[in-house]
Amino acid sequence: MMYWYLLIVAVLALITFIFVAISRPAGPCLRVLMYHKVSEDGTRDYLTVTTDQLAEQWRYLQQEGFTPILFSDLVRAVSAGKALPPRPVLLTFDDGYKDNFTRMYPLLEQLNMKAGIFLVPAFLQQQINESDGLYLDLQDLRSMNPARVEYGLHSYSHQSYKKLTLKELSNDIVQTRDWLKAQGISFQPCVAFPYGAYPKKNPFKRKAFTDTLAISGIALGFRIGNRLNALPLKKPLLVQRLDIRGDASFEDFVRLVKKGKALV
Ligand SMILES: [Zn+2]
Repeated sequence: MMYWYLLIVAVLALITFIFVAISRPAGPCLRVLMYHKVSEDGTRDYLTVTTDQLAEQWRYLQQEGFTPILFSDLVRAVSAGKALPPRPVLLTFDDGYKDNFTRMYPLLEQLNMKAGIFLVPAFLQQQINESDGLYLDLQDLRSMNPARVEYGLHSYSHQSYKKLTLKELSNDIVQTRDWLKAQGISFQPCVAFPYGAYPKKNPFKRKAFTDTLAISGIALGFRIGNRLNALPLKKPLLVQRLDIRGDASFEDFVRLVKKGKALV
């Protein structure tokens, strides 16, 4: 009778072990953090973190031994098999808000971190024509040290990639890239999908979508998903990012960075 009991316990333990092993990436992982705006007056919302929050979060990453990387490091890892540093973390900022230069960048230098900013030409043009001061302008982009900040694409005018045909998608990549090139702004072959949207459910449409990105010369595509990415990346065109909301607590941040949402 005792043996049966022990056997059942052993089998249950084994099942639990297998479940945990397959539900969490066991080996090295890449964390990609997604931010938008940065405030200095204490404003916190789902798109806005304060400079104090950023400092606390980035100091935590440093204490935990995470190494900031640039888009180009990840591109080289994917295309040439180049090794990434231990515990790599990629900090990304979407839409190119002005405060990324005025508030985030000084902190980046102060704490010796690195980041990538996903740009939208229509928002940059807004600064040339009207200069409402909401988004970065070309001078800001040229002022940031390329060893610390790199740029990626975030569509031409922030339209959802889920709603575009494949032809429209490839045209959008070309148009976005051509505009940045014409302004002399260097960028990496990386694209963050506006709203994190892409054809997620239909596997055929999803495959056609990532194939179109690859044919268009894109090495890395970024969605949201809120999970860690096992290394080496299995799906470099569907990299998952952790949504860092300014209205979440520091404990929420730590939990998300440790495990992603999968095991929260
Ligand atoms: Zn966006």
